[in-house]
Amino acid sequence: MFCRCELEYFGEPNTRTCPVCLAHPGALPVANRKAVEWTIKLGLALGCEIADEAVFSRKNYFYPDNPKGYQISQYDKPLCIGGSLLVPGQEGDREIGFVRAHLEEDAAKTVHVGGATGRKIGSAHSPVDFNRGGTPLVEIVTQPDIRSSDEARRFLQLLRETIVELGISDAEMEKGTLRVDANVSVRERGEPGYRKRWELKNVNSFAFVARGIDAAVREQVRVYESGGEVVQETYDFEPETNTLTPHRTKEEADDYRYFPEPDLVPVQSENATIERLRAEVPELPGARIVKLRDELGFATAQTLVMGGLDRLWAATRDAGAEQVAAANVIANQLVGVGVDPARVDAAELAKLVVARDEIPRKTFDEAIAHAGDEGFSADPYLAQKAVAEASELEPIVDRVLAANAAQIEQYRSGKTGLLGFFVGQVMKETNGAADARVVNELLRQKLS
Ligand SMILES: [Zn+2]
Repeated sequence: MFCRCELEYFGEPNTRTCPVCLAHPGALPVANRKAVEWTIKLGLALGCEIADEAVFSRKNYFYPDNPKGYQISQYDKPLCIGGSLLVPGQEGDREIGFVRAHLEEDAAKTVHVGGATGRKIGSAHSPVDFNRGGTPLVEIVTQPDIRSSDEARRFLQLLRETIVELGISDAEMEKGTLRVDANVSVRERGEPGYRKRWELKNVNSFAFVARGIDAAVREQVRVYESGGEVVQETYDFEPETNTLTPHRTKEEADDYRYFPEPDLVPVQSENATIERLRAEVPELPGARIVKLRDELGFATAQTLVMGGLDRLWAATRDAGAEQVAAANVIANQLVGVGVDPARVDAAELAKLVVARDEIPRKTFDEAIAHAGDEGFSADPYLAQKAVAEASELEPIVDRVLAANAAQIEQYRSGKTGLLGFFVGQVMKETNGAADARVVNELLRQKLS
């Protein structure tokens, strides 16, 4: 954030450091322009007000992951203020508000070795990797607007997709490029205000965040119902046991003695820069889900948008495919076989969707599996029309029926589910090339 060290994940420990991020005497910080611009871009996407003047401050604390003895952060004058994110849902939309988003430098990574859980408690020793120290970090603080663990998960998914689409981070929890702390408190229905909260730290997937919230809610309700009081506390969530364990934090209370960083000038955002960045903000995933929901239903709309598939879907529809059929093929089949949607030619895919009932099922599946190949053309697949001529299929149907007299009797005495068995036999005889609708029709006629 304030030096020129290369940013690389999982690099050899302590190979991306310099006098600035290692806090050698006399080293001076210089703010990273790109990081400031990207934070403004994020703020614009989240509807924040961009401060005319943002101030970096020193947050003083002593800890091995912090060689300066302070972290450069933003305190009373953050870069982004307010804003909200629209979270569409099955049962209506929620607007989750933000308090602020500020820019700071990340701490180094402490690795706790020798304990069972990888946490500090029980570990033998804790070496520090300074590669992460000093890298840019945006902290986004929400208003207490989230009402359930499910809503928290959907909010996080949407926020993550928004960040990824802005092109400012890959935002992957497994890599640590997105981290989440969740604050949880319970109250009686209709009660104004909020009670004491617990903070859950070091949770490493959205599913675990949701489970951690559920565990905290359960435990707080239990405390209140047994006549106790919840005290403010920080916990780690242990996914293996579904339990919360107290998180040992720095010894002293939160007295960071903030003061403005004397080695950095305030960030003054120019209007021209803000407007340039505003123009770079794409239509957000939440708004796209709302748009598609009316046409496709919430579940399909969410799958397409969150999977980064809605642009391919729109292009496929525009190229002539029926919209629901296109959505089903893209959201289910294409993704199911691992095709990268960015590599698919929408016009060729549309041809396949349009003709999907006229070519053998097997051929269609093969075509979908290759739809992302370089220079893919639907034409050779479309040439393999399914056999739909009744005159061609009738002898095969007759042959199948003649070979399965016992099943015919069962069918006629009421086991009509056997129709699928006969269809399957005909398909087998034709190597999957028969038009299933025609076969069905023929069998029904002959079995009635
Ligand atoms: Zn450095």
